[in-house]
Amino acid sequence: MSTGATVWLTGLPSAGKTTIAYALAEQLGARGRRVEVLDGDEIRTFLSAGLGFSREDRHTNVQRIGFVAELLASHGVLVLVPVIAPYADSREAVRKRHQAQGTGYVEIHVATPVDVCSVRDVKGLYAKQAAGELTGLTGVDDPYEVPEDPDLRLETQDRTVQESAAAVLALLAERGLVT
Ligand code: ADP
Repeated sequence: MSTGATVWLTGLPSAGKTTIAYALAEQLGARGRRVEVLDGDEIRTFLSAGLGFSREDRHTNVQRIGFVAELLASHGVLVLVPVIAPYADSREAVRKRHQAQGTGYVEIHVATPVDVCSVRDVKGLYAKQAAGELTGLTGVDDPYEVPEDPDLRLETQDRTVQESAAAVLALLAERGLVT
């Protein structure tokens, strides 16, 4: 069985996490790897239905995702998680759970600056926040704790989606997680 791992892409809304995850999934799938993308919106519809965006609920959401990711990864799947995960202690708990189970874990900081994210504004969240129709937007009026020591930091404003996906792939190869 291939070695599984969780690849968590953390960053601000519209940073490019989902786009890079699906580009990566395509490349990994082409190499015959079993891949699962745990999409944040899908998770909130199913696994975390009812949770909101308080600190506590965000933490719970990240722990649930981390739990499922580890289960899948322990069965040889490469699990891509494009989820904001704004709090360092939540991310650390997920890393520790993986370590305790002997399952690979890679943290990628999709480090697109907020001024670039707010122009991309895929879901119109930055516009809504600016118009006073929404509060608690990560990176604007809600915290985002920047990862201090991620396995990889991607400055997406300086590279294409394919270049970012290739950089993650190279890291996975370096770690022996893909051949
Ligand atoms: P997130 O999942 O982080 O909220 P998305 O991946 O949903 O962000 O949205 C990022 C948007 O930015 C997409 O529409 C994507 O096409 C666009 N984009 C433009 N340039 C880039 C780039 N160099 N890298 C990643 N995404 C980019």
